[in-house]
Amino acid sequence: MTSLFKDSCHFNDSCLTFQIEAQDIKGRIVRLNKPLNEILAHYTCSDDIKRALGKAMALTALLGSMMKFDGIFTMQIKSDGRIKSMISDFAANGNGSGVIRGYINIADDVAKGRPVLGNGQLMITMDQGQHMARYQGVVELQNGDLKDSAEEYFQTSEQLPTHVMISCDKSANGHWSAAAIMIQHLAQNTQSEMASPHDDEKQKDDWNTATILLSTVKPEELLDSALSLQDVLMRLFHESGVRLFSATQVMSGCRCSEDKLRDVLASFNTQELRDIAEDGVISMTCEFCKTDHKFDLKKLIN
Ligand SMILES: [Zn+2]
Repeated sequence: MTSLFKDSCHFNDSCLTFQIEAQDIKGRIVRLNKPLNEILAHYTCSDDIKRALGKAMALTALLGSMMKFDGIFTMQIKSDGRIKSMISDFAANGNGSGVIRGYINIADDVAKGRPVLGNGQLMITMDQGQHMARYQGVVELQNGDLKDSAEEYFQTSEQLPTHVMISCDKSANGHWSAAAIMIQHLAQNTQSEMASPHDDEKQKDDWNTATILLSTVKPEELLDSALSLQDVLMRLFHESGVRLFSATQVMSGCRCSEDKLRDVLASFNTQELRDIAEDGVISMTCEFCKTDHKFDLKKLIN
């Protein structure tokens, strides 16, 4: 298959928030390179499975960067397709930037001809520490389609009309890129009782126009790192004009640590620890970064 996009090998792992000029339409766009390539390097699975994780990570970065405080945004998908489960999370640092990671659990008992994501659920959890109550929302996977599932999530959880476009692909030299863009119609939330029928009609027209323009974005535009996110937005919405807000960063990394795992092991009794040890060593592999953490059994039980 010919690759969809040119690969300039620039890493531009960032998220940009925007507003369509003089309209109640806000949006954000994100593109992932480095974190995605680091994660996918752990897998030898087929490209269509990698593509699904890339799309899930782009969506996670898009939604996770909306968190106002520091905290963890987690998207968990369970399906009866070739991907059994998939988790990606975004640790936000309070100003929109954050660290992303992800992993896939591939079903070994599902035939190759089956869809990558079949029926299942998409669960979103937002944990913002002491600032806010933990939030959890679940939607059915819409025919295994992450775009449709995300739009359904916004419709049911926030009653906010939302459109999303997501792409992920590999360049001719094997470099992966994933990107997502969304627009939201805020008018329904902010509409004042003084709004005239004329205003109402204009808002509907604005939303319809923005929806149509968004649907014209090509995967190669979203993914090509030679084309800046600003340029993608200008191509789409130049007629109305776009107001850009400051960009935030999406970084790669993992939050696993020996201390955290030691806390987990502390809940095991001595016999259980002996059972999971091999030659006096307990090995625990992080599912995200695949780091092998090793613990000396003697030190744990003393
Ligand atoms: Zn890790």
